[in-house]
Amino acid sequence: MREKKNIAILGSTGSIGTQALDVIRANADSFAVEVLTGHSNADLLIQQAIEFNPNTLVIADEEKYKYVKEALLPHDIKVFAGKKAIAEVVSMDSIDLVLTAIVGYAGLESTLAAIKAGKQIALANKETLVVAGELVTALAKEKAVNLYPVDSEHSAIFQCLAGEFHNPIEKIYLTASGGPFRGKDKTFLATVKKEQALKHPNWDMGAKITIDSASLMNKGLEVIEAKWLFGLKAEQIDVIVHPQSIVHSIVQFTDGSMKAQMGLPDMKLPIQYAMGYPNRMKSDFPRFSFFNYPQLTFEQADTKTFRNLALAFEAMNKGGNSPCVLNAANEIAVAAFLKDKIGFLEMSDVVENCLQTIAFIAKPSYDDYVATDNETRRIATTLVANGMKH
Ligand code: NDP
Ligand code: MG
Repeated sequence: MREKKNIAILGSTGSIGTQALDVIRANADSFAVEVLTGHSNADLLIQQAIEFNPNTLVIADEEKYKYVKEALLPHDIKVFAGKKAIAEVVSMDSIDLVLTAIVGYAGLESTLAAIKAGKQIALANKETLVVAGELVTALAKEKAVNLYPVDSEHSAIFQCLAGEFHNPIEKIYLTASGGPFRGKDKTFLATVKKEQALKHPNWDMGAKITIDSASLMNKGLEVIEAKWLFGLKAEQIDVIVHPQSIVHSIVQFTDGSMKAQMGLPDMKLPIQYAMGYPNRMKSDFPRFSFFNYPQLTFEQADTKTFRNLALAFEAMNKGGNSPCVLNAANEIAVAAFLKDKIGFLEMSDVVENCLQTIAFIAKPSYDDYVATDNETRRIATTLVANGMKH
């Protein structure tokens, strides 16, 4: 065992990536940065490299390679560019744990490569499990790789399961904040713009997941993520809206006992738990006060208004390549909404239309997932260009 855990952060320039670096900065005795990767934010990546002195750095956008390389010439850091390079560097012998914090389908290839190389995974990139959960979890089992959840709800479930791994789960409750549009109706949602959707009440996150949170697609993706992480059936997963985001999720065991994990909403905690497992490391994160939250409330999710959650359950129940279709269509829909090309409710229309159109494959191979992702993006892009009407 090395004195410090050597971490590779894929997506270090994002919201999770930068918070992971905050955790590492505060725990420099326990962690060292071995690899950093970013996509377009070259300046931040350079700044991170200078501070954390990784062995290797990859900029996904090849056009920025020269700029990054030159900026780091005085430093002893290997610099590579391109998607393929990310999938290659994760197998370096010196890496102990890979934090997958790239957003979307783009994170799948490197996550699979890291698991193939036998690296332990701290998994933030939920889309990899949505797209190819069966493949990813089977490979992790084969390679004896643990997938430590970073997503706060899944971290909560994982924390509740500590010491209970031999006890069957009856069901889990994933909590959802409900996002900025909780309680709103379709007439209101038809008019909302990205500026409103990007204001999440409790969490400060990347743009894609913030829109997903507003549309409840994030919770839909998390239901599928939970299915694969904890080996659950659809009927064992429930979603409950909890606007204060203090109870991060709940496990119910077969004797009826329920365990919940609580705390102020701060992603640094689940990131630190995943990186430090099985140890809880001391932190100075703000502590919860009961008197600031005299009421914790719970309500049913409105799947009639927020159709994405129902669509995600549907895709999960259908299985095969359906969740891959759901994810790809949603990525295109969210990108289009962020460019004001389609309305908020039309995002669900794009997803639903793709789920109905794309050919179903019951037992997809990796190549089938790649083809499904491609084809769905093509159809969804056409739908967006033709001005999807709901
Ligand atoms: P951000 O958009 O903030 O960051 C995404 C990261 O991925 C950035 O480093 C970005 O690089 C990089 N990236 C984007 N596209 C590509 C690509 N095509 N190839 C390689 N790298 C790419 O996202 P978040 O940090 O919010 O989310 C990351 C993942 O974690 C998502 O899957 C999300 O669902 C999950 N998650 C996030 C939470 C949060 O609080 N943010 C909570 C729970 C889960 P660059 O910025 O340099 O372009
Ligand atoms: Mg979450």
